[in-house]
Amino acid sequence: MRVLVIGSGAREHALSLALSRDPSVIALACAPGNAGIAGLAEIYGVDPGDPDAVTALAKEWNADLVVVGPEQPLVAGAADAVRAAGIPCFGPSAAAARIEGSKAFAKDVMAAAGVPTATSEVVDNPARLDAALTHFGPRWVVKDDGLAAGKGVVVTSDRAVARAHAMTLLDHGHPVLLESFLDGPEVSLFCLVDGSTVVPLLPAQDFKRVGDNDSGPNTGGMGAYSPLPWASDELVSTIVSTCVQPVVDELAARGTPFSGLLYAGLALTSDGPQVIEFNCRFGDPETQAVVALLRTPLAGLFLAAAQGSLASVEPLDWADGYAVTVVVAAEGYPGRPRTGDVITGGDAEGVLHAGTRRREDGAVVSTGGRVLSVVGTGASLAEARAEAYRRVESVHLTGSHHRTDIALRAANGEIEVP
Ligand code: AMP
Repeated sequence: MRVLVIGSGAREHALSLALSRDPSVIALACAPGNAGIAGLAEIYGVDPGDPDAVTALAKEWNADLVVVGPEQPLVAGAADAVRAAGIPCFGPSAAAARIEGSKAFAKDVMAAAGVPTATSEVVDNPARLDAALTHFGPRWVVKDDGLAAGKGVVVTSDRAVARAHAMTLLDHGHPVLLESFLDGPEVSLFCLVDGSTVVPLLPAQDFKRVGDNDSGPNTGGMGAYSPLPWASDELVSTIVSTCVQPVVDELAARGTPFSGLLYAGLALTSDGPQVIEFNCRFGDPETQAVVALLRTPLAGLFLAAAQGSLASVEPLDWADGYAVTVVVAAEGYPGRPRTGDVITGGDAEGVLHAGTRRREDGAVVSTGGRVLSVVGTGASLAEARAEAYRRVESVHLTGSHHRTDIALRAANGEIEVP
């Protein structure tokens, strides 16, 4: 198979690495890629947000399968355009990608499917805001009703902070979603979906706040681990049957079946798993941990999802043990990340690239907020952490920062499900 990956993050580096190890993959290309992916795949400078450009590349390069990593191309219709050209694509249609692209749409689908989630209200008029704040808080959850790369959400016990965030969104013409606060440990569950059949991957947990002990603002994600030593054996099947399969069935019934990767972000509350959000693609940085443990060749799974034949794939084969991902971010992230600094040690084992590019003089330099994702595996979570942090020490980027407590509480047995 000739496989074309769309995207440029550490998620796409992890997927490309797994695809490059799949014996059925004879050629791999990536657009636009990064300095790390360039070691594995042919790189093409195509705008991932332009469905026609992605399709033209897929045709020209004779791709047998296109794998779309990020949400923006999917919401823009990249998968529809590629499929319309007769090329199988791993990724949902723009209509199905609305499950992530519009939080109000996702709430409507969940309500119709009977899926447990936070109660919510969309506020598009400042005159309604104060009454809604009184109804939902304290512990306010204020979201931008659109794509915000995980950064449009404020969760706070301070009403003034909640109100200020909502006003900023309204001032920019964005409707605001207020939600009830879901209390409990969070789980990310990635599911391969072919329109009707759901194949869950190992559950993971990610760390959204920039600082240790969940301090500071939300980010795209600062680290993750998989699987969850504190979760019950039935957790995954409960989530699939109560949250994921009903949404897949509802989208199919609406004539917009979902195929690709459906990511359920959940809180494990005292009332059971409740959905925080659905995403229409692999999550970053959880993917880097989950895929590190997957032994089943990836291209065959993606093709089965794209072609509607997931029901006939063998049960997935996983390595024993755990994987931990630690994100190395540029100085200033998540605010204004500093770019253009030289990275050394970026070619070491377990180091995946995100915001990197190779300069003409051969040096690898930073180009964005999350620069590297460093993965370690081990028989225990403590061993996987130790390996990941040893590898973090071997890379150097001036001014960079990372969390030191990824998977620490889980490794110490401190997480409890209410
Ligand atoms: P989202 O962009 O919807 O994934 O939200 C980002 C993060 O905000 C989530 O991963 C949670 O940590 C937190 N969050 C969002 N909604 C809620 C909620 N209703 N209750 C508690 N935490 C939430």
